[in-house]
Amino acid sequence: MVSVTELHLCYLCPRLLFHHRRQNMGKSGVEHIGSRSGYLQGTILHEILEEVHTDLSGKGDNELHAALIEALLSSPDTREVQFHSLVLNHYVLKKKQKIKTSGVFPLQDALRIWEKQLFSCVDRELEHKDTSNKPNIIQIFQSSKQTLICDFESKKRLKIRGEPDAVFFDSVEKEYVIWEFKGMKDVHKERVLMQVALYAWLLKKTLGISSRATIFVFENENPIWHCDLDEINTKKEEIGKLFEMYCLVLDAVADGDGSTLPHTKDRSVCVQCPISCVSFPLTLSHLSHQDE
Ligand code: SF4
Repeated sequence: MVSVTELHLCYLCPRLLFHHRRQNMGKSGVEHIGSRSGYLQGTILHEILEEVHTDLSGKGDNELHAALIEALLSSPDTREVQFHSLVLNHYVLKKKQKIKTSGVFPLQDALRIWEKQLFSCVDRELEHKDTSNKPNIIQIFQSSKQTLICDFESKKRLKIRGEPDAVFFDSVEKEYVIWEFKGMKDVHKERVLMQVALYAWLLKKTLGISSRATIFVFENENPIWHCDLDEINTKKEEIGKLFEMYCLVLDAVADGDGSTLPHTKDRSVCVQCPISCVSFPLTLSHLSHQDE
């Protein structure tokens, strides 16, 4: 089974994936090479949002599901306070032992950004729906824990698996909206775009529905990146080549020789990479990218 995370790593650098598979470099560290972290504790934020989205979708705690939906459908005057206190009391506070003092305000800011986006999704749906009919709203929250599996036939048969951070169903456009949360500070749009394009490819193959995406880069000055259907579809055109490259890496791993695999296209990644296979001189601009 091939994960979207591994494919994404292959997109970042085929050689890095080769070394990762040979040496088992550890998943979480390696996928963040080339990205800077700030004060936001991304893992904790992911855990909180995963729990809330699971409950929103009705696949988690029934009482919390009912309370969250009720808060979302309450009057605009009280909704924000009601919803925010539910998230704080039932999801955030139980993680308080793990939250660093320096991480409190960034977490609070990230949750506000996420809530604002959530409310705008619900409002958009309510504009076209009967507000007294709760199932109409509940259906927009797809389970964030859904695992999508699909085969790709090439020289090799790849079974691909992916778990998006959150998925909405937009009943107006009849398409999915993939939400991807990034707790890192310095995130490259091109790379995340490939990750969401892979999820979109899986959703289309498994459920037959097209997707657009919203990428949350919580510590960025501009924290919300919307990717429309065209942007996602253009990126999806590169997926076939990525799968071919992944197969080449598998062959190289089996042969124990990664010397013919291409280097990363983004040389600034090499500055942080523990594999010193780089065979080109790094310029000051590559280094300064990391110090911005
Ligand atoms: S040093 Fe650069 S080219 Fe080599 S594995 Fe790391 S990122 Fe890839």
